Amino acid sequence: MKLPSFAYACPATLSEAVALLAAHDGEAKPLAGGQSLMPMMAFRVALPSLLVDLRKIPDLKQIQISDDGVRLGSMVRWRDIEDDVHLAKAHPLLIAAIAHVAHYQIRNRGTVGGSVAHADPAAEMPGVAIACEAEITAVGKGGNRIIKAADFFLGALTTALEPDEIITEIRLPPWPAGRRFAFQEFAQRRGDFAMSGVALYYDPDADGRVGNAHVGVIGVADRPQRLATVEAILNGRTISDATLAAAAEAASAAVDPHDDIHASAAYRRSLTGTLVERALRSAAG
Ligand SMILES: Cc1cc2nc3c(=O)[nH]c(=O)nc-3n(C[C@H](O)[C@H](O)[C@H](O)COP(=O)(O)OP(=O)(O)OC[C@H]3O[C@@H](n4cnc5c(N)ncnc54)[C@H](O)[C@@H]3O)c2cc1C
Repeated sequence: MKLPSFAYACPATLSEAVALLAAHDGEAKPLAGGQSLMPMMAFRVALPSLLVDLRKIPDLKQIQISDDGVRLGSMVRWRDIEDDVHLAKAHPLLIAAIAHVAHYQIRNRGTVGGSVAHADPAAEMPGVAIACEAEITAVGKGGNRIIKAADFFLGALTTALEPDEIITEIRLPPWPAGRRFAFQEFAQRRGDFAMSGVALYYDPDADGRVGNAHVGVIGVADRPQRLATVEAILNGRTISDATLAAAAEAASAAVDPHDDIHASAAYRRSLTGTLVERALRSAAG
């Protein structure tokens, strides 16, 4: 399908990009990898009058690893994450999750900032952001602000971003040694969006008891969500068959998906329980 007509700007600075967005009163959109925005425009779901291309803005493509965690510039592509030799140690859950994102060509262009801003409820990166309590930095005409992932995703394709705000960075808190983790998802075909997906981690104590359990799910609500009831079941217990069964049952009960053309709500509930169990087995193994 042909795209609707639009104006195009490729500013060299962040302040210029923000000024362009602010001047168009919600009618302009940032353009990152274009892998979600172009299909949305082709289908007339998004009809921006101006695209503000972010590709020439300096410093948005950096990956920084420090005591403060992992900072991903918003224009970091899936491909850049895969290619970074330090991230496998600095944030193995991120690496495990983004391995499920789309296909090679899309991974070559799609960015973390675009994914978080697009806020597809079944996308992996928002799930990692929720599970890991990420912070999203945005800059707009009012200046910089940091938004917690838990406050960022407001619904399907809806976020707390103002129309003139640009995401500059996503910070994932530090990843301690010894942390157990897993990412599991089920999609109809490799590279498709998840029908359900689970990102989880915990920090075991010296006796192998679970502490600091974080369980995030995607694809089963209008936004990624944490499963507090599952985390409460896990904390303080060892990973036994009984713990796995209780966690899986709690996960199925905690989600409230809808029927759609791909699966019934009951199927997705059951699938989520199964994926939580698989992820815990994998994390403990
Ligand atoms: C066939 C196909 C399969 C896919 N499968 C998956 C999948 O399995 N999992 C998955 O997670 N994704 C999948 N995607 C989406 C892909 O990961 C996209 O790259 C990603 O969702 C958006 O990133 P982008 O850089 O392409 O953003 P764009 O398409 O350029 O932008 C997306 C939205 O974010 C806004 N935006 C972009 N950057 C910023 C910023 N810095 N600040 C504020 N707003 C911004 C844009 O205005 C737009 O509204 C798939 C895409 C396709 C086409």
